[in-house]
Amino acid sequence: MWYVGAQSKPDPNPVVGNPATSPVSVVLISIDGLRPDAVTKLGANTLPHFFRLRREGAFTDNARSARDYTITLPNHTGMITGRLVTGPEGHNWTINRDTEFPPDITLHKQKGSYLDSVFAGAHDYGFRTALYASKSKFSLFDVSYNESNGAPDVIGADNGKDKIDVFQFKNRSENVVDQLERAMKRDVYDFVMLHIRNPDTAGHVFKWNTEIPSPYMASVRKVDELLGDVFEQIESNATWRGRTYLVVTADHGGATGEKQHKTIQNPENYTIPFYVWGPGIPAGADLYALNPETRKDPGSLNPELHEGIPPIRNAGAGNLCLDLLGVPAIPGSTVNSRQDLNVWPPIQQESQ
Ligand SMILES: [Zn+2]
Repeated sequence: MWYVGAQSKPDPNPVVGNPATSPVSVVLISIDGLRPDAVTKLGANTLPHFFRLRREGAFTDNARSARDYTITLPNHTGMITGRLVTGPEGHNWTINRDTEFPPDITLHKQKGSYLDSVFAGAHDYGFRTALYASKSKFSLFDVSYNESNGAPDVIGADNGKDKIDVFQFKNRSENVVDQLERAMKRDVYDFVMLHIRNPDTAGHVFKWNTEIPSPYMASVRKVDELLGDVFEQIESNATWRGRTYLVVTADHGGATGEKQHKTIQNPENYTIPFYVWGPGIPAGADLYALNPETRKDPGSLNPELHEGIPPIRNAGAGNLCLDLLGVPAIPGSTVNSRQDLNVWPPIQQESQ
């Protein structure tokens, strides 16, 4: 059973200088269990790379996880499918431990119909995709979009059923980022999703304690170093420099003084950051201010899917990434399905 104790899939095309297909590359970074107030509390001197995202990019500290689940795999499934969890429009994936996966399970089997994703969207348009994860359960995504379980590519040239070209898994985020750094030196992906687990791991063992110092806050400092490693690769390689977008968010936060993040009524669990950085993204902009008609700061609430003007959600990340790549929205998605999350300066938006 390949998904239990997952193995990484070797890079099938480790040739130096694999050319980019898209004019841009998009790196989606999910930081497991990251609370936005941990970042603001630690500040710019301690977290130079988080604050680079804030200074040079557009962001909010008040984005939302899914409505009914503030746990890891349902929220990451939301990011890649553009759906919330429950109901007929949801992706319906609620299992969080790979030890509890039914045999031969895929996202599609659980849903009862095929679930499209950001990987399929990018890959079917001929783009090179990768997933670098630091928890073994992410193999669910690799298995769901492999040669056997991915849908035929009916868009343009046939790029095959395996929608994730490279899947890498290591238990330590530092090792995952090392692998990605090595790949970035020799190669370029059009879309890559990177999962960093440190804040979640610290929170589960030592509680989501945002006092300084605490193991949780130390884990956020470590993530800042890893973001610095990614920035360094983007800037030191001509294949990435000047054409790469970062979309950085979290799956959920965590409850102060507790070792969990599953209580969906607790704002500390559903309040997450959302950063967008790259060429043309307005420096220091508030994402809600860039979207006055289509997104509404939810205050301390987490609205239902069709309840009023929606907040910015982690589940909108997949469709934003495809938008940046110039690819239409994920079929069947409901979050940012119009790809109307604006990340450009207002004046450029008018001229488009
Ligand atoms: Zn998580």
